[in-house]
Amino acid sequence: MIIIMKPDASQEAIAKITSLVEANGLQVHLSRGSEVTIVGVVGDKTKLNGANLEIADGVEKIVAVTESYKLANKKFHPDDSVIRVGNTTIGPGTLTIMAGPCAIESQDQLMQTAFAVKKAGATFLRGGAYKPRTSPYSFQGLEEEGLRYMKEAREATGLNVICEVTSQHAIESAVKYVDMLQIGARNMQNFELLKEAGRAHIPVLLKRGLSATIDEWLNAAEYIMSEGNENVVLCERGIRTYETATRNTLDISAVPVLRSRTHLPVIVDPSHATGVRAYVAPLARCAIAAGADGLMIEVHPNPACALSDGPQSLTFEQFEQLTGELRPYADLAGRSF
Ligand code: PEP
Ligand code: MN
Repeated sequence: MIIIMKPDASQEAIAKITSLVEANGLQVHLSRGSEVTIVGVVGDKTKLNGANLEIADGVEKIVAVTESYKLANKKFHPDDSVIRVGNTTIGPGTLTIMAGPCAIESQDQLMQTAFAVKKAGATFLRGGAYKPRTSPYSFQGLEEEGLRYMKEAREATGLNVICEVTSQHAIESAVKYVDMLQIGARNMQNFELLKEAGRAHIPVLLKRGLSATIDEWLNAAEYIMSEGNENVVLCERGIRTYETATRNTLDISAVPVLRSRTHLPVIVDPSHATGVRAYVAPLARCAIAAGADGLMIEVHPNPACALSDGPQSLTFEQFEQLTGELRPYADLAGRSF
């Protein structure tokens, strides 16, 4: 349930409502917009039966929220969120480009890639230190050694760095080295991991699960937010369908759907969505047109020798060409990078 206050509601009226709700054992989430203040009520609203909130001083109206996610819900927070990460922000007006290798393979590979993606306009270096591979015999990542290379690349380039975490232990290590945690598709409904990320003090990029509905995805974001970490960014990375021509099927409609349901920023990963280098550019353009706040793209110094996801990775030259081509699209969408 949300309580929409009148535009001229006094601070005293807002405080009174807040304490009334809390006194009944519910939690309050206040959202002060440019026009109105919204009091989000989290918990069992039947406890408020008889409180007559509709006629309380300063209250405009009460709106029932039927979706089970509250903190991620746009009804609670009508203004789109801007998430501050490291030295930058993700959200309206900006096209955030995250780029880098699928897996961190060596210090040299990561450092070269960091300088190349920065030159082409990326503000984030991505790279996996803990790789959730389909086969246990595939390269599993350099773990903490990889995180150290990430930090070095960040210090050398000024890029923000993001790494996937797959366990509580990985979160404890990663927060010491990176600016943002990534929860991958395979862990989108690992609820213990989501709660742990919610207790971390850095922002989280939450990828869509392989077969997750948008509602399940937003509930996963709610798990993180309800632990106190509201700095969540969503990443559409393709879903499983019957189509086999691409690795996954990019659900581009998820971008406008999310826009209407949540205030959280949304980015698109055309690399994992397609699995094919040649399809990355057209879908990146498409993502900007659909309203995405950013892109995550895999880049490798030598994709033919990559230890994972070589076929979808761009070379440095291809990535630079792509970002050059994307600038007019970003301008048209009113976003800078
Ligand atoms: C990744 O970004 O490296 C990755 C494994 O992606 P996803 O979780 O979307 O498969
Ligand atoms: Mn990958």
